[in-house]
Amino acid sequence: MKKIVMKFGGTSVGTGENIRHVADLVTKYAKDNKVAVVVSALAGVTNSLIETGCQAKKSDEKHIQTFTAELRKKHTDAISTAITSKAIQKEVAQITENTIAELEKVLTGICYVGEITPKSKDYVMSFGERLSAPIVWGAIKDHKAESQCFTGKDAGIVTNSNFGEADPLMNFTAHLIRERLSPLLEKNIIPVVTGFIAADQDGVVTTVGRGGSDYTATILGVALQVDEVWIWTDVDGIMTTDPKIVPSARMLPQLSYQEAAEMAIFGAKAMHPRALGPVSKENIPVRIRNTAHPENPGTLITKEPIANAKEAVKAVAMIKDVAMLNVYGAAMVGAPGSYAKVFDVLGKNSINVMMISAAASEANISMVIKRGLLGRAVSNLEIALQERGGIVSEVTTEDDVAVIAVMGANMKGTLGVASKIFSTVAKKGINIRMIAQGSSELNISFVVKEKDGAAVVRAIHEEFNLDKN
Ligand code: ASP
Ligand code: MG
Repeated sequence: MKKIVMKFGGTSVGTGENIRHVADLVTKYAKDNKVAVVVSALAGVTNSLIETGCQAKKSDEKHIQTFTAELRKKHTDAISTAITSKAIQKEVAQITENTIAELEKVLTGICYVGEITPKSKDYVMSFGERLSAPIVWGAIKDHKAESQCFTGKDAGIVTNSNFGEADPLMNFTAHLIRERLSPLLEKNIIPVVTGFIAADQDGVVTTVGRGGSDYTATILGVALQVDEVWIWTDVDGIMTTDPKIVPSARMLPQLSYQEAAEMAIFGAKAMHPRALGPVSKENIPVRIRNTAHPENPGTLITKEPIANAKEAVKAVAMIKDVAMLNVYGAAMVGAPGSYAKVFDVLGKNSINVMMISAAASEANISMVIKRGLLGRAVSNLEIALQERGGIVSEVTTEDDVAVIAVMGANMKGTLGVASKIFSTVAKKGINIRMIAQGSSELNISFVVKEKDGAAVVRAIHEEFNLDKN
């Protein structure tokens, strides 16, 4: 008998059939274990809510009607496939109806006010999970299991008021969750909790960041002191690289929290990067599993990786849609605070810097940012730096680049990894534009032209034998 939090992602609950399958899995495991469930919104719903919310501010009431009609259809279709009992169907349909009526009012409100604030955006985004969770709850009850449905707020998740990226007040949250959900688990009642959404101390709806249902799951896992958190998704686990680039890419059976977090940041979309924070402190294992292949054990994330502990390099990833931004200025040399000025401009304009490298000569900083932010970054740097008295003389950009990230916890202290990586790239006749290695030595990242990215990934995958155990 284990205590497990199971989170199901958007594709795992994408249709009524999928939701039935989820209910099969949950009730199967709940026979011998104590299970709490966390659900995402139906695939695509969060995106469409954001889109409509943003359009609503341009006063488009007709669009709101069309949108909510589609949303109603999507969810009522799912109800009729996922649930067989007419009584349960009716009960869930009523919740759906009320929730959509509320959403209509919210969107109309935004439409009249003509603006969407981070606070109201969180409220709009919360409807995805508020619509999906009751259907999963209904499907579980349809399987003759006892279940109770909660919003993140009702389950007891209290966050700060950092709308869009809220973090839980963990001690208070853990106390409330234990108080509300533990008695249910004791009685083998399956709690179904909306992922992604919570509330701040004033009870205002917050969200914990895109893809945040993982985070909800690990918060619950820590509060309930479970044996494992299972992240059910549409991939078998975390892989050595993208199988579209290297068909022989291999599933990684085991990773450390640090490695998995690193990979999440670098786009192995199996995991929300902040989600590992709570569980790594408490040493609660996380397992990534595929709803379509429940027979696979998936990737297990624990404190120390046991298997393959000798491997220095475990995975290689290519991050596309990025650009390189180079800032030059002789006046930066030996001038304390000059880097701070550059990053201050970027930070104030909400431009996230993914990678940095600065030579000891101090006359140049190179940065990698999302490609779509390049225009904004350059224009703001130019304006601000003119105003602040010319520490920067020139800003150049390259928008046809990709980052290659090579990862593995045992790179730390292993000699020769960097030289092997760079000579592999050199042998391909490919030029490296920028390099960064954090002192954690968990990853080495470098920039190449995007057209060369796939070849570099393949060469490194082969050189380090990543396709072999
Ligand atoms: N529905 C939210 C999103 O799409 C949260 C999640 O799916 O984990 O970002
Ligand atoms: Mg989602």
